[in-house]
Amino acid sequence: AQGPAASAPAVNDLSSFWMPFTANRQFKNAPRMLVGAQGMHYTTADGRQVLDGTAGLWCCNAGHGNPRIVKAIQDQAGEMDYAPAFQMGHPAAFALANRLAGMLPGDLNHVFFTNSGSESVDTALKIALAYHRMKGEGSRTRLIGRERGYHGVNFGGISVGGITNNRRFFGTLLSGVDHLPHTHLPDRNAFSRGQPEHGAALADDLERLVALHGAETIAAVIVEPMAGSTGVLMPPKGYLERLRAICDRHGILLIFDEVITGFGRLGSAFACEHFGVLPDIVTTAKGLTSGTVPMGAAIVREGIHDAFMSGPENAIELFHGYTYSAHPLACAAALATLDVYQDDGLFARCADLAPHWEERVHGLKGLPHVIDLRNMGLIAGIELEPKPGKPTERAFTAFLKCYEAGLLIRTTGDIIALSPPLIIDRDQIDRIFDTLGDVLKTLD
Ligand code: PLP
Repeated sequence: AQGPAASAPAVNDLSSFWMPFTANRQFKNAPRMLVGAQGMHYTTADGRQVLDGTAGLWCCNAGHGNPRIVKAIQDQAGEMDYAPAFQMGHPAAFALANRLAGMLPGDLNHVFFTNSGSESVDTALKIALAYHRMKGEGSRTRLIGRERGYHGVNFGGISVGGITNNRRFFGTLLSGVDHLPHTHLPDRNAFSRGQPEHGAALADDLERLVALHGAETIAAVIVEPMAGSTGVLMPPKGYLERLRAICDRHGILLIFDEVITGFGRLGSAFACEHFGVLPDIVTTAKGLTSGTVPMGAAIVREGIHDAFMSGPENAIELFHGYTYSAHPLACAAALATLDVYQDDGLFARCADLAPHWEERVHGLKGLPHVIDLRNMGLIAGIELEPKPGKPTERAFTAFLKCYEAGLLIRTTGDIIALSPPLIIDRDQIDRIFDTLGDVLKTLD
């Protein structure tokens, strides 16, 4: 280790940082360094502007460097850097929880703060298990996820998650779960606009799992209402409603992982509002602070919270929490972010831009290798035919070429995912699809 460095030091030795979800050796041979971010653009180390087609990692919904959010974080850092959240409180934490309760539908009114999506998921799963135990149904210990689901990288999240590489290396702590089938039906639904027509009946597989395991063993079902990280899979029409009905029938809690869909991505505050299906727990992160300070939250319905509140008043009701739950900088960032969303009308802006976005997404039909196009709100999934014997290579080449051409996209396998900040304008949408279209034409 060496002494203190300037705020943005030039670095030649890249060996110490083990980069997350990255091909480390490939990256370090040809690094892509970002040194600034403002509005819709990143600045690269070689001084180029790159249009942010992904809101960072689906998180910077208010764009970059919003002055109100920056000032709120700066002010809070000067006023109170940290406060413990165990047996102590600070006003912004309560104000933020109230604010979130007011934004979520129904009686989703109680907020448990975390620092990430992964922590929100594990928090939600733990609350679900403990809830049944509090209610005298301690046999409900099984958790149901879905194939291709992404719920972060902690042990709970990878257990219910359904992305093979996130599971296969990590041993035996993933038991006690089962999975619903994924909803990707390209033969029937390719090139759907918005929710696809076919696939609602896939929810009925939950009845099969209930018959197999017994409802009395199942605590909760967790799904992403729109599955983002696996490559953008929209819920088939009627699917989420059917899951809700089956969960109700069998006393199973329904958890929506809204880490991506929360905070305006579909044109409504949350996907549960957008689809009109009320889950029992919602997990969030990312857009909560527009990515500025790490923060997440699990938000639960009245009845779940209240089930914990019947013991002696001096007893800790839930043995769970993080040193940085409701961190003051994160609370300040989140409150300012929610102000920006509201005052700048960003969720409505997303809804207003969605039809133009949809036209441009589906304008890619017919370009080389494009085998499916999917869209909703300001999200797009562009699925490419994999190169024979070389899966992921074609999409990754598109990513590199777009970056060179001044556009940040994201790829999962051979699927390109787009999810720009909600401050984007029509011209910038056009630039995204013009650039991407040009790049797709060059791919072999
Ligand atoms: N859940 C979903 C649906 C996500 O998309 C993600 C991240 O992409 C996570 C959980 C994990 O969030 P984090 O990376 O903040 O732990």
